[in-house]
Amino acid sequence: MRATQLYAPTLRESPAEAELVSHKLMYRAGLIRKAAGGLYSYLPLGWRTMKKIMQIIREEMDAKGGQELMMPIVQPAEIWKESGRWAVYGDEMMRLKDRHGREFALGPTHEEMITTLIRDEVRSYKQLPFMPYQIQNKYRDEIRPRFGLMRSREFVMKDLYSFDRDVDGMNISYEKMYDAYSRIFTRCGLKFRPVEADNGAIGGGHSHEFTVLAPSGESSIAYCESCNFAASDEKAELKIIHAEPEELRPIEKVSTPDCHTIELVKNFLNVPIEKTIKAVAFMDDDERLIVAFVRGDHEVNEIKVINAVDGANHLYMADEKLIASANSRAGFMSPIGLADTAIVVVDQSVMEMSNAVAGANEVDAHFINVTPRRDFDAKKIIVADIRMIREGDPCPHCGKPVKMTRGIEVGQVFTLGKKYSQALHATFLDEDGKEKFFEMGCYGIGVGRTMAATIEQYNDADGIIWPRAIAPFEVVVVPVNAKDEAQIACAEKIYDELKSAGIDVLLDDRRERAGVKFKDCDLIGYPLRVTVSPKTLAGEPVEVKIRRSGEFKHFDRDELVAKVSELLETL
Ligand code: ATP
Ligand code: MG
Repeated sequence: MRATQLYAPTLRESPAEAELVSHKLMYRAGLIRKAAGGLYSYLPLGWRTMKKIMQIIREEMDAKGGQELMMPIVQPAEIWKESGRWAVYGDEMMRLKDRHGREFALGPTHEEMITTLIRDEVRSYKQLPFMPYQIQNKYRDEIRPRFGLMRSREFVMKDLYSFDRDVDGMNISYEKMYDAYSRIFTRCGLKFRPVEADNGAIGGGHSHEFTVLAPSGESSIAYCESCNFAASDEKAELKIIHAEPEELRPIEKVSTPDCHTIELVKNFLNVPIEKTIKAVAFMDDDERLIVAFVRGDHEVNEIKVINAVDGANHLYMADEKLIASANSRAGFMSPIGLADTAIVVVDQSVMEMSNAVAGANEVDAHFINVTPRRDFDAKKIIVADIRMIREGDPCPHCGKPVKMTRGIEVGQVFTLGKKYSQALHATFLDEDGKEKFFEMGCYGIGVGRTMAATIEQYNDADGIIWPRAIAPFEVVVVPVNAKDEAQIACAEKIYDELKSAGIDVLLDDRRERAGVKFKDCDLIGYPLRVTVSPKTLAGEPVEVKIRRSGEFKHFDRDELVAKVSELLETL
């Protein structure tokens, strides 16, 4: 490909809204352009990288027995109503009506579609395992679309679904996909970590997120250096913190004027924060009041609260009115004396506390010497692990202190069990002649997010530094003076030779100053730049710049192609 025939507009400035380096660089290097919030066009360079990522994904999916197909993006509401998700998916689902008033959704995911597609035709155990997949646009009306392709409203996803006879089969499919994902992100050149994850709205059994390590990532990951534990902070299980036994004192109500936060209470009563119990009041979709209690120095994990409360799907902050309706006051809540209309969820470690401080459900008052196992009404409360992990907490596997790091979720694998096959009545005839529900799994990769995450991991002040496998071009050949016929001829020859050797090469034949072209090369981030100058014409060794290290190599003209191929193997 020749640069004069390539639409690759580069910019000096990035849009004001771009916070992440990947977002800025994708703009400046001419990979994407914005159409509206969370909606982007991929320009040729960006799309080349997307296609390379998709090709790697395809090869790895096919190697595990995946079969590519394509389903509609526009999905009828009926199948979502059948599974029950039409009601629970919420505002993230983009919905529309046709001219007859029939309801549809733009697919945010395809469990319903694939299950209803195959349920009448995949009828025998002999057809299993079955692993169809597609690569297509998905739609999610994210509350906060941001960071360019990282969190957009339309994005390209690979989604594979596995159908198996039994749980063992499903687990084998899961292992296959886990392995394929590890291979895909390794081939893309990424530093990543699979972490235990929550199943979220998709439901089902166990799950891992594949997370690209980057300080800018939205996911917080807990991991242990002593064992192989790694989990998203939403998922990370916590052990009970057993407190030292103490002599129990009788509970007492005390006045705490204006102490409506844990900080104020602890200072006023002069107690350590670990001796306080904090309340967070939520409301769910049915407007039920759900109050979570954790130790004052801990944070509530909303996902764990959702998982602990039957029927809760989303949580919102509760307002004063709802709190008052349960006989309480914001800033002074505790389970003691709270009306039965409130659903009370208490962290397991709170139940270990003694002589602690908790609210008294009235303004400017707290209880001291609260001992939850004695003072909380056990019949009314749900005790569960509902707090967020933090640096230094004991590892749930080995007990050593955990560390925290940040990452970008680029893919996720789930086992679903019979959740969708039962809801949508998808069965097959097993060897024993019995009708059985499929054991399913689903597996997604965000292609655009993978591209963005790669840039987050590989960039410097000059621009992007592509790993060779997914660079829009592997090599760029730059004649320093494109008006010089001899230089152009030499550059063309090198370009042809590299191309014949199977290298993905761009000839920068633009009549720009060398400085401008070099800057663009660095900004776009081609792994290697071959420079054709008067020295090259004079028979001196050819200069090759390695983008990643900034090093210059010089190779004899006759071994240039072989050396470039060798170098590429290392990038
Ligand atoms: P997140 O928690 O980041 O919102 P998710 O867990 O809802 O993502 P999945 O349903 O697991 O996403 O989708 C599979 C993959 O699709 C994700 O791992 C991610 O790479 C990608 N993806 C999901 N939402 C978006 C989005 N809004 N923009 C770009 N990629 C996305
Ligand atoms: Mg996910």
